[in-house]
Amino acid sequence: MTDSTADAAETALYDEAADLDAADPLAPLLDRFADAPGVSAYLDGNSLGRPMRDLPERLARFVREDWGTRLIRSWDEQWMAMPETLGDRIGEVALGAAAGQTIVADSTSVLLYKLIRAARAHDPARTEIVIEEGNFPTDRFVAAGVADETGGTIVRLAPDPVRGVSVDDVAAAVTERTAVVVLSHVDYRSGAMADAPAITAAVHEAGALVLWDLCHSVGVIPLDLDAWGVDLAVGCTYKYLNGGPGSPAFAYVRTGLQGALRQPIQGWFGAKDVFAMGPAYEPAPGIRRLLSGTPPVLSMLGMQGMIEVIAEAGIDAVRAKSVSLTELALRAYDAVLAPLGVRLLSPRDAALRGGHVTIGHPRFQAVTQTLWAEGVIPDFRFPDGIRLGLSPLTTTHAETVRGVLAVRDALSASGV
Ligand SMILES: *Cc1c(COP(=O)(O)O)cnc(C)c1O
Repeated sequence: MTDSTADAAETALYDEAADLDAADPLAPLLDRFADAPGVSAYLDGNSLGRPMRDLPERLARFVREDWGTRLIRSWDEQWMAMPETLGDRIGEVALGAAAGQTIVADSTSVLLYKLIRAARAHDPARTEIVIEEGNFPTDRFVAAGVADETGGTIVRLAPDPVRGVSVDDVAAAVTERTAVVVLSHVDYRSGAMADAPAITAAVHEAGALVLWDLCHSVGVIPLDLDAWGVDLAVGCTYKYLNGGPGSPAFAYVRTGLQGALRQPIQGWFGAKDVFAMGPAYEPAPGIRRLLSGTPPVLSMLGMQGMIEVIAEAGIDAVRAKSVSLTELALRAYDAVLAPLGVRLLSPRDAALRGGHVTIGHPRFQAVTQTLWAEGVIPDFRFPDGIRLGLSPLTTTHAETVRGVLAVRDALSASGV
């Protein structure tokens, strides 16, 4: 490519981005988020969402009033109910879940343990846990731990790494021995989006339970857990829900299953009467039985603003912008990165893709270091992938183009 065609491609991409940003109905919401001085493209909102601009004031008010003034009375006044009220709100805004099925509790890893263990115990004759070989490490590690602990077996799916898991992959693996199938709705590496309703139906066909990990889809993809007949789900709140580092995860258990499931960490907060201080554990009748100990109230504050912004925007509009951003990233990739030998590691069809786009090149580890030093922040995933995470409520089209061009420049510079 000559310098002048490179400049023309660059100008065309920036012009297109400017038009898309000018027409973006969600653009006014960008101002709700805190500034990050020195960052010219934040492409990691799928790993750690940005804080809301009003969060310092929200936290200060909490310390002054709810904690500082109301003191322990706040437990009765609001904190006891918070795991459920916040869970219900996430369910309503982002999961397609009616009230009483979603709870905010521990980390995703711990909730995976509770739910996989409960699903394994649900029908003891079913001993197999089906999981994808490329699933996020914590999901695989927890599943393997439960299999060891319960004398069960892990069945590994090995789908195409870019296309992701298909209905056929799952249908071929489930049998009368399957206890639970644990899958990510959107793959953390490729961004491939699974056909959750069809796969859920295939799992049910075999009489097994399905557990969807929604870490990379909640807050960016419209979900319809109740309509899809999903049994169990978990998801992070510090990615597209902007809850801040270590904010607690949520779990979903469909109403009809709640009475029959026993989770393994029987603590006082999951008991029928928390303050009965009785001799034996009796689980709460509903979703509260997933709780174990005192909820992390402070850590639940960060996500609240974002959940309301998503409600205001509407999850369908969030998804529309997400598609617009990833499509633009792909056009920019085609124009300036494909010619340099960069591989596309995400599906091309927007309908099969979540909120991030992954690209690969052997020099990307070094390239990522250069980019971070320059205030362009994507993330690197072993062995040679860069993920462009485009959180729709906090990312502009111009920023997306800036990021892709910065990858081109850093890659070109790294080769000389
Ligand atoms: C981010 C992520 C997790 C993180 O689990 P934590 O317990 O919050 O550390 C788990 N699973 C998937 C698929 C993820 O993307």
